[in-house]
Amino acid sequence: MEQSETEAIVSAQRGHFESGATRDIEYRRQGLVRLRDAVQANRGRLVAALKEDMGKPAWEAYLADVGTVLSEIDLAVEMLEAWTEPRRVRTPPYLIPASSSIRPEPLGVALIIGPWNYPFDLVASPLIPALAAGNCAVVKPSELAPATAGVTAEIIASAFDPAYVTVANGDHRVASALLEQRFDHIFYTGSGTVGKIVMEAASKHLTPVTLELGGKSPCIVEPDVHVWHAARRIAWGKYFNAGQTCIAPDYLLVNAAVKKDLLAALRRAVKAFYGDDPAKSPDYARIVNERHFERVLRLIEGDVVVGGESDRDSLYIAPTIIDNVTPEHPAMAEEIFGPVLPVIEYESLDEAIRFVSEREKPLSLYLFTRDSGKKDRVLAEASSGGTCVNDTMLHFSNSALPFGGVGASGFGKYHGRFGFDTFSNLKAVVERPFWQDVYLRYPPYLKMTGAVRRIIRHVF
Ligand code: NAD
Repeated sequence: MEQSETEAIVSAQRGHFESGATRDIEYRRQGLVRLRDAVQANRGRLVAALKEDMGKPAWEAYLADVGTVLSEIDLAVEMLEAWTEPRRVRTPPYLIPASSSIRPEPLGVALIIGPWNYPFDLVASPLIPALAAGNCAVVKPSELAPATAGVTAEIIASAFDPAYVTVANGDHRVASALLEQRFDHIFYTGSGTVGKIVMEAASKHLTPVTLELGGKSPCIVEPDVHVWHAARRIAWGKYFNAGQTCIAPDYLLVNAAVKKDLLAALRRAVKAFYGDDPAKSPDYARIVNERHFERVLRLIEGDVVVGGESDRDSLYIAPTIIDNVTPEHPAMAEEIFGPVLPVIEYESLDEAIRFVSEREKPLSLYLFTRDSGKKDRVLAEASSGGTCVNDTMLHFSNSALPFGGVGASGFGKYHGRFGFDTFSNLKAVVERPFWQDVYLRYPPYLKMTGAVRRIIRHVF
């Protein structure tokens, strides 16, 4: 994509924004409804495209790329008026008579750049609050999921004039060309390495950014758990989309007292989910491309107790568990982003908390325990973008919760009202009537009476 093309896209959108059309709440509502209708009409094509891009099982595709988007749209349509209304807040006595409010206003033109693993959800879910908040948007899906990127472009083109919302498909050169332009917000989901490039480009225009990044999300298991339920919930989170999920449990920290039972239950869960040969299961995805296939394969070494098999032609890597992993193991050097679960044993919860806290802050942290004291300790002492207690990944699906990282796993939040606020300027407004004025605030200050000075000295 030529520089002149990206310039033309952004300039058309800026013109549309400045026309004031998107300030109208009904205009925004109609846009969201058109988006919902277009997603509904194309849901079968989306599921098929996701199958083509990474062998995504139909149910996983529907759940994580279509269902999530439809429910975010429904919530935004339902809450649009409430979110856009001025929010009255307290006015301190020294400002009285006055009233104070927060008035959300749109930012302008937003750029949304997405990754390949949930290639529709991770551009559509930020687009919804961008539109609800009254912005125009340019969407750049990942080139590594080309079939989904194609359907995404068609969905958007059928629902919107390109001066309002448009898709710019292509590789990183398209993203770079777009990043040359001045946007009013950039919402990026992907790796930290590219996140730094995005942030640097944004800094040239002082454009605010949201960075939804990844990292190594730990899963801590204490001995007091229901082992079978814990194993199934961990295996589901790990092997959903063949582990290519930013919030998948990356590695297991398991108390020595329960490790043997948990590993046996995990082996049983994998078999219950995918049968004796997961390669034949319709419910198990493939690795997105050869580069990632090679990368994940290189992490499988040592004490492989489940899986380990692979097939280059179909980009298949079996659900795999590696026991007795040390911090120096290659699987602990980077985010795994594949169906490989390294297992590290610990003796005390202190040790587990220290292990997590010594590393970069993760996007998610999972804790399995029935002990509320242990739960409170982990929640208080180990930082993460989000947490599930006694489950994995489900916090993502609750739009009442903010979703996003902390530290190296990113910054800025979205989902539900949090997304609306991310794409808004929360303008602070104080309103005063004319019927009263305190002359003390005006110079010359020395005109204050002695009594007033004494009061001020007493108060401050
Ligand atoms: P990626 O960084 O390779 O690519 C993401 C997007 O960036 C693509 O659209 C790509 O075209 C663009 N891009 C690539 N190189 C670029 C460059 N030099 N300049 C500008 N844009 C460029 O990420 P990925 O491999 O697609 O995604 C995997 C990562 O994303 C993992 O780390 C994962 O944890 C993370 N992730 C995070 C979330 C979240 O919600 N926090 C969700 C999914 C994935």
